[in-house]
Amino acid sequence: MIVGKARIVKCPYCGAKKELMSLVSGNTLRAEYWSDNKMSAPMLPQVSIVQKCPKCGKYYLYYKQKEEYGEDESFERGSDLSYGEWKEAYHQFCQESTTLDKSDWANIRMGLIHAYNDLITGRNDYIPDDFRDMLLPRERPVDVFVASVIGDFVREYDWSTEKNLLLKAELCREAGQFNKSMETLQSIKREELDDYERGMYDDIKMRVEQKDIKVFRIKSVQERRKDAMIKRWEMMAELERQWLEEQKKDPRLKVCKNGHCFKNTEHMCRWCGEQEVVERVEEDAPRTNVVLFVGQRNGQWVLTTDPDIEGKGEQIRKITVEIVGGHKLYYHLDGQNPNPFNNNSIKLDKKNNYWKMANQEM
Ligand SMILES: [Zn+2]
Ligand SMILES: [Zn+2]
Repeated sequence: MIVGKARIVKCPYCGAKKELMSLVSGNTLRAEYWSDNKMSAPMLPQVSIVQKCPKCGKYYLYYKQKEEYGEDESFERGSDLSYGEWKEAYHQFCQESTTLDKSDWANIRMGLIHAYNDLITGRNDYIPDDFRDMLLPRERPVDVFVASVIGDFVREYDWSTEKNLLLKAELCREAGQFNKSMETLQSIKREELDDYERGMYDDIKMRVEQKDIKVFRIKSVQERRKDAMIKRWEMMAELERQWLEEQKKDPRLKVCKNGHCFKNTEHMCRWCGEQEVVERVEEDAPRTNVVLFVGQRNGQWVLTTDPDIEGKGEQIRKITVEIVGGHKLYYHLDGQNPNPFNNNSIKLDKKNNYWKMANQEM
């Protein structure tokens, strides 16, 4: 951000001079965007369009004054006008409306709406979203004055110049005109909006349905994606939790259609990957152990009781299989898993007919 020489404005009522900040350059790094069209960026500070004369206390639009620059820089933005002062300014402008055109009025109204929303959200203080939501109840009554200003804005603004009518829908919502807001939304072709606008569209719609009039911070496309991902994870974790609860009701071992055994809390058979459960076996049923060896015979991987099976160097491994009620239950591996076992699970490689071979050998 580079600050230039101060812009000097003269009060049109008493002639008192005031120096205002002017920017040579700035950027929107760490900018926050709000649903009422407000952008606040630490590296792009804005000068308030309405300035209050420090001498006579009257209000004027600074950009309507003659353009003059001083020698030094200034950091004065005149942006600390309270909502009360904005209201006062608004009433003053209404008295002298002949000097103001449509775009001046749009600027003034937008500024007043921002000042009101600044007040009720405390957003200039950079409060985290969640905390702000806690502080601000959704069921706040509509401020009658702001609602009338919004009404005038919506009626008099030239909406044909807007790319889409999201701002109009949003302003109607903030004024508590939910039907008008919804009608406006319906006139927008959602599929023609970009990702960012579509997110905003959905947020406005959701809030209209909830009869919520509060202004909100617009999340970036990245934030939305992150939120959606977290939501999905949470949903999956919850489904898994429910599934486990359900499975724990029956502590018996599961038996797949190929006659293998696996724990009640496991999703699939470790031998063959089957999920379908055709039978149950008591966990404390008598067990016997069979020791199997992994090796190659005639170029095929096999699982066999023959300890002399030819292996692939150090990859040959011993596996202890427990037999429960006539079904194979595998849990113990001697050392690292050999190829073609995957990831320390006993799921056999069907392509090599591996588990079928094991069946044959047993
Ligand atoms: Zn003055
Ligand atoms: Zn199986």
